[in-house]
Amino acid sequence: SFEQSRLLKSLPKQFFASLVQKVNSVRAEGHDVINLGQGNPDHPTPQHIVESLKLAADHPENHKYPPFQGKIELKRAAANFYLREYGVHLDPENEIAILFGGKAGLVELPQCLLNPGDTMLVPDPGYPDYWSGAALAKVHMEMMPLTEENDFLPSFDNIPKETANKAKMMILNYPNNPTGAVATEEFFQQTVKYASAHDICVVHDFAYGGIGFDGKKPVSFLQVKGAKETGVEIYTFSKTYNMAGWRVAFAAGNASVIEAINLMQDHMYVSLFGAVQDAAAEALLGSQKAAETINAMYEKRRDVFISSLREIGWEVRSPQGSFFAWLKVPKGYTSEEFTDLLLEKAYVAVAPGIGFGEYGEGYVRVGLLTSEERLREATLRIKELDIF
Ligand code: PLP
Repeated sequence: SFEQSRLLKSLPKQFFASLVQKVNSVRAEGHDVINLGQGNPDHPTPQHIVESLKLAADHPENHKYPPFQGKIELKRAAANFYLREYGVHLDPENEIAILFGGKAGLVELPQCLLNPGDTMLVPDPGYPDYWSGAALAKVHMEMMPLTEENDFLPSFDNIPKETANKAKMMILNYPNNPTGAVATEEFFQQTVKYASAHDICVVHDFAYGGIGFDGKKPVSFLQVKGAKETGVEIYTFSKTYNMAGWRVAFAAGNASVIEAINLMQDHMYVSLFGAVQDAAAEALLGSQKAAETINAMYEKRRDVFISSLREIGWEVRSPQGSFFAWLKVPKGYTSEEFTDLLLEKAYVAVAPGIGFGEYGEGYVRVGLLTSEERLREATLRIKELDIF
């Protein structure tokens, strides 16, 4: 056998792998586990998008190498989508890059723009793949705490001047995984002001852009004046259109960043299967009814779940977007202890907050990724533990 490289060994542990193992071992004992730990949408892709893939798969043009840097038709569709949804003008040739899923884009970006030893600002708690991107680029992460008191938005005033001056990139993510918080336009205005004053490239992860509650559409970073000069937004099809398995996303915004992404990808891939790109264009341009239904489904689940948790006496905050609820762990438990307790005694799997960073301690993340009945059932099982 061969030894792994130092680089590979230096990467952070993928904590979801151990969560899956734990869930599997409890299942192997014959228990019916309600798995709310992972972020996998539980419904199929809307049929018209699947049909569009089937047709496109028959097309011989799609059997050849796709064009380097992706199909212009998909880039045009992305530009149309941003104009229609957010009133944002984008040049399809120079301001859109097609990605193999949002994850690949987020992991590649630090390597595209930063040098080893550079500093990158990362939200804590946050999506763990940001750490992988930093580790692969050998850059230093400075954490921006997201606290309940500040509505889970970073406070730029609390970033030391020295850090701000060193930082070259900042990752933001709203609607937020794991906290379910959303950002306001004012917050993004502040972000643009702060980032441009310190010459920081903003990378806004808009993975949950299609999932916002209470009639409030999640704000795109690019909606704000000056955003295009300041950074890019990553939009994925995984959540809005239940297309997690398709591995398709795009980056939009600053032309120099898009050029860097495209150049990096020229070294790594040709582009996605052309038929996937055609169907992704259909998702953006075709009927949005299914996307609206998906959004409404998560909202309904949120309502049911949050109210039933409150009924059993768990004081919880209601998420405003994404499909996660971020719940405070009762006193006397760490997030891991509480996760283990729920799994072993109630057969309910959640994700421990510590898996998302130091500031995640004291919370667990619950995915609204099963039916209302199963969410209610999970609450009843938790009630039986007689903790609240
Ligand atoms: N960003 C966040 C915050 C996520 O939760 C996810 C998926 O779970 C992604 C990005 C990546 O999405 P994908 O790679 O499926 O496009």
